[in-house]
Order: sequence, then structure tokens, then C-alpha cells
Amino acid sequence: MSAAGAAPVPLLSLEPLPFGLRADELRRRGREAIARATARLAAVLDEPGTPTIPALLAPVSDIVREVRDVGSHGSLVFATDVDAETRSAGRELSEASDAFLHALRLNERLYARLGALDLGGVDRSTRYAIEKLLREMRREGVEKDEPTRRRLIELNREIDLLMNQFGENIAKLVREIELHDPDDLAGLPDDYRSAHPPDASGRIRITTSYPDCLPLLKYADRSDVRRRMLTEFLRRAYPENAEVLTSLLARRRELAHQLGYPTYAAFAIEDKMLGTPEATRALLERVRALLDAPARDDRDRFLERKRRSEPDATRLEPWDAAFWGTGYYDEKIRTEEFGVDLRRLRAFLPYPRVRDGLFDLCRELFGLEFRRADGAPTWHPTVEAYDVVRDGAPIGRAYLDLTPRPGKFSHAACFTVRDGIAGRMLPQTALICNFLDPGTPAERARLEYAHVVTFFHEFGHLLHALLSGHGTWIYNSQSNLEWDFIEAPSLLFEEWARDPATLARFAIDPDSGSPAPPELLARLRASEALGRPTMWFRQVALAEVSLRLHDDDAAGLDPAGTMRDVFARFRLPIPPEFHPETSFGHLAGYSALYYTYLWSAIIARDLLTPFRERGSLTDPEIAARYAREILSPGSERPAAELVRNYLGRDFRFEAFERWATDPPRQLTASDSGRRVRPTAAGPAPGEGSRAPADLEADRRPPP
Ligand SMILES: [Zn+2]
Repeated sequence: MSAAGAAPVPLLSLEPLPFGLRADELRRRGREAIARATARLAAVLDEPGTPTIPALLAPVSDIVREVRDVGSHGSLVFATDVDAETRSAGRELSEASDAFLHALRLNERLYARLGALDLGGVDRSTRYAIEKLLREMRREGVEKDEPTRRRLIELNREIDLLMNQFGENIAKLVREIELHDPDDLAGLPDDYRSAHPPDASGRIRITTSYPDCLPLLKYADRSDVRRRMLTEFLRRAYPENAEVLTSLLARRRELAHQLGYPTYAAFAIEDKMLGTPEATRALLERVRALLDAPARDDRDRFLERKRRSEPDATRLEPWDAAFWGTGYYDEKIRTEEFGVDLRRLRAFLPYPRVRDGLFDLCRELFGLEFRRADGAPTWHPTVEAYDVVRDGAPIGRAYLDLTPRPGKFSHAACFTVRDGIAGRMLPQTALICNFLDPGTPAERARLEYAHVVTFFHEFGHLLHALLSGHGTWIYNSQSNLEWDFIEAPSLLFEEWARDPATLARFAIDPDSGSPAPPELLARLRASEALGRPTMWFRQVALAEVSLRLHDDDAAGLDPAGTMRDVFARFRLPIPPEFHPETSFGHLAGYSALYYTYLWSAIIARDLLTPFRERGSLTDPEIAARYAREILSPGSERPAAELVRNYLGRDFRFEAFERWATDPPRQLTASDSGRRVRPTAAGPAPGEGSRAPADLEADRRPPP
């Protein structure tokens, strides 16, 4: 929406959802909304005469938006409420919304009327919205006979229930280890140790929630402590999720067969950029071959470092290095050889400055202002609300829910609160993350550097949602984009968190007022490539697990064995007491599509090329083109076309291949052994470090 000449945005458009409702009221309102939508849809389909876009597509799009609101509200409550009964009601709302949308796609009368629309003279994005909806309906089974359709409805309902159960178990099943000696925490930062004092009987409890568990895995000097924590972390949803997963895979197999696809993977990938399981397998093999030798070099380097501490060591254990996205010896090398102590960096990363720095960056890049909306209702006192304003007019609302609490979604993700649609509703989006220690006031909290990168990542999704939420049709929203492209904007946005010039803007210790030493930030940058091949090698392994479980009936019967087999082939042994498949949250939401991260990263590396060619990550012209061609259109055009419009050509693999195999920069042999060899040009913009380290989905695909 442009400022000049535009109609004033009605207040209604930023109307919040009714947060804070208890279970019964949520259920009542959910039922009413679904009943209203059902009646409205029937009335639309009863309209006599030849269907037209204003009389058919417009109301259907609006009905879908309203029902998605119900589902978004439910998902938000399910993910964030402290009360178990209310969370259950939230989950029911989400399931009711999904069930309505499945049924709508199986509606033969709607299918017939959409097919009868006269598309002569219709603009391209409207035509694309209709094509997508018709394709979705065919994929749902609208052309199948009545008994098959009935079975498909049941299957989809069961699949939705199992997916939610899988995610809920991961969120709610928190395990802990008990330590008895304060020295068990040797190596951890002081603020972490003081936040985990022994209780009256001398016990120290450390849970598998991220703020507890991740620093311990990275810094604890005692390998048995790391081993115990990683073991609990990777079996936190076991055995509960083992059966949920096999049931989910079985339902998906049947669904695919009912629809006439050989496998669920063939069904799931068909309407994505890659198109087929064969193309996906070829991609995974290409990247596996690319990274095989560099990942071996990583391992040799980590093992060599381990031998300096344990001369008899013959191998790396999973809790030693970056197998699972946390790495003890990686951090040792980072500290000793690159002079980067992430614990020291933490002092310079106060949450309020990082957040405000992020907002400043969005102003500079995209002309967006984030204005604190203190009066706006939220669902918890720790949640911050912001009105997002461009050219003086609101374009949406952003919520930041960053503090863990019991029962809350335990990972980091971007949630749709309300879908935006031109003239009706502005988009509202929430980051549900767990970066902040609940015992520390937010204004005093410090962030781990890894959390800063994740914060930027999720913010990339949030910007995408806010900028794209102004289209005419719900079917052209961000949620309807090819799902294997969905991570490209967020992976790209991580680069700003890794850029020393950007970091320097907000990396300031609020206690001393001193900025992070530029040398430290330069060294951080220099160390970025450390372990990168291993991280992406692991991503390929995870993608192969996700694909095989959905593309091979035998594999789907034995998820644990499949994951062990695949990981063994990637030289990543899984000890018998680990059950990572049960907390691999993407298997629910992304099914066969975990390769999305890899594919999106390949595209994201090339999206950086224009910035790199300009020598600046904040080049205003490139940023504006990026917002205009990639973020704002949502799914008005196929993703490959968005990329082509931005780059002026098709994207290429080379940028990713160079980056993923680029060895860490050489260091000089100065006295301390910690200096980075200065380069004439300085660090090139757009060189990042890590693959997403976690196994849980951070965008919920649409039902
Ligand atoms: Zn993401």
C-alpha cells in the first residue's frame, strides 16, 4: 500500500485476535467461525448463473482467510499457552480449520464452478491463483469417486492429528540431567553457572530446553556431562513419538496410493520447485559428493584437536563436534586458533540492542519502521508487539515471544497470526522463540551469537510474511509458495547477522558501554567456515532420511533403522540409546521436504550475488529490488520466476558450492596465534557459516 493517495487504513485491519481466551470460549468461537464459513460457502455455491470472479473467487478467498485465522489462532494458542487444557483447545481449533480446508478442496461443486470461470482477460496473478487452487483440489482427490474421497477425508484428519501429536510431544517432553558437582559445569559461562546453582541437597538440574542444553553441549569440558545431555536431548520424545511416527508414515503411504501416486514423496514433491523424488535424490547425491572430502577434512581436524586433550582418542563422539549442530571441539578451535570466544562475545550481545539493531537494519534496507505497540493485546506479558509502518502507513503487526515457559513450543519459528489480504486485513506475524533466560529481565538479557543468527533467520520469514501479505488472493500468499523455496529469504537474512559491519552496529556491552572489538568480529567472520562442510553434510543426511521415509515403504516401517543406516553412510554413527527420529519435528510438517533447507540455501547463496557484486550488504538499490521481486509478490508467480526477475537470470549452484567447501581463512603465526591475516578487501560480504542446526520446523506449512 503506498502512502500518497491511498485510502486511510481502517483500524479494523490491525484487529488483534482475541488473545487470552480460555478453553471453552475458544472452542465455542471456533465452532461458530467454522459454521459461519460453512454456511457462507454453501450460499456462494448456491448462487445461480454463470460463476464470476467477484461472485465466486473473491468470497471463497475471504472464507479461506477467515478459516485460516481460526487455524492460526489455534496453532498460536497450542504453541504458547501455559495451560494444558487451553493448549488442547487451540489444537482442536487448528484441526477444525485444517478439516474445513481439506473438505473445501474436495468440494465437487466448487471445483466445477471454478472450472467454469471465464478466464479471458483475467490478469496473470488471478489466473495463477485459480490454477493453484484447482491443482490443490485435484491433489486433494476431488476427481476421485465418493468412497475414495471419504477415505481421503479420514486419512487427512488422522494425518493432521498425528502431526500435531508428534509436535506436541517434542514440545512437552522435557528431560533433565542431574549433576552433583559444580565442577561438572566447568567451561560454561559464569552467567550460565550462576543461573544453575545447586539446590539445598547439592543437585544441579539441567533440562533439555534450548537455553539450558545448547550452551552445555557447546562448552562443558566434561565429556560425560555432554554425553549425558546429548543422550537425553536426542531421546526426549522417545518412546512416545516412535509409534506416532510409524503411524503417520503408514497413513501417508495409504493417502498417496489412494491418490494414485507411487509414494508419498512423489505426491509431496510434485508441486514444488524440484518436482520429483528423482530430482531430489540427484540433488542430494550431488551435494553429498561435493562435501564428502571436505567433511572428512573437518573430522580429521576436530579429532586432531581432541587428541591434544585426550592423546589416546581414536575417534570423535557425537557429543564432541558439530554432528548435531553443537560442537565442543569446534568451539575449542574457534577459541584457540581464531581467538573467538563466543562466551566473550555474549557480553556484547544484549537483547534490546540486537533487536533494535535489527529494526534499524530493516529501516535502512526496506524503509520499515517497527513502532512498539504497548497498548496492543498479546497472549503473554513477556510478548512484545510492534506496528510495522512504511511510508507513514501501517503494513502489519509483528509479535516477539522470545522467553521460554512451561508447555511452550520449544524451538524457534515464525507463526502466522493473521493472513493479510488487500483491502481487508493487514498481516500479523509472530516469532515464537526461546532465546531469553526467563530468570533475567528482557532488557538485561544477553544473546548467544547462535541465537542472534537464528533471530535474524526467523526475522527473514517475518519480513517475507509482512511484505507479501497485501495481495488480492489468499492463494497467492506466502503460505502458498512452493515450499522448497520458503527458507531462501530466511537463510539469506542470516547473512546480515554474520556481517561484521552489521554486527558492529549493535554489538555493544551495555555495562561498560564499549563496543565489541572490531578485531573480534573480524575473527568471528574468519572462523565462519569452520565445520561448515560437516554441517551441510549432516543436512544432506537429514534430507535423505526425510526423503527415504516417504519414498520407500520398507524404510517407512522402520524410521529408527533408516536414520541409523543413512547416518552411517554419512559416517555419522547414531548410538543405540539415541532416538533422534522421534524429535525430528520436520518429519511432521515437511514430510519428504527436509531438502528444502539445502535447496533454499543454494538459491539464497545466489541471491547474495548482487549484493556481493556491489560490495555491500546494505546496498539500497539491491535491497529494494530484493523486496520488490522476491518478498512482496508472495506466491503471485512461480518461485523460479521470482528469482529470475531479481537476478536477471536463472539461479546457479556455483555460489553455494564455493561457499560450502571454502576452507576457513588462514591465520598468521603471530605470537598469540590468534591474528587473522589481513586481506586487502576485508571479509567479503555475504559469506556465512552455519546450516540451521536444529531438527524442528520453523515455518508451519499450510494444511
Ligand atoms: Zn526457517
